[in-house]
Amino acid sequence: MTAPLCKQCGRELCHDETALHRRLIGKESTEFYCLACLAEYFDCDEKLLRQKIEYFKSMGCTLFKEPGPKAEGNEA
Ligand SMILES: [Zn+2]
Repeated sequence: MTAPLCKQCGRELCHDETALHRRLIGKESTEFYCLACLAEYFDCDEKLLRQKIEYFKSMGCTLFKEPGPKAEGNEA
């Protein structure tokens, strides 16, 4: 599986970025923005988006869980 690229600037995206995009824009998204482009889209600070990532993670949002080998059938 190859890493998705930002639809806007073509930068390679990390798991947190695609997860945040799904959380904020839609779970069914197949095209994603990087943090910088998301910040531009929402007209907010990139730092705020990083805080949101930490917030959603602390809430236990399943979107942000890295797809690991033991992830299946172990939903919190
Ligand atoms: Zn981008």
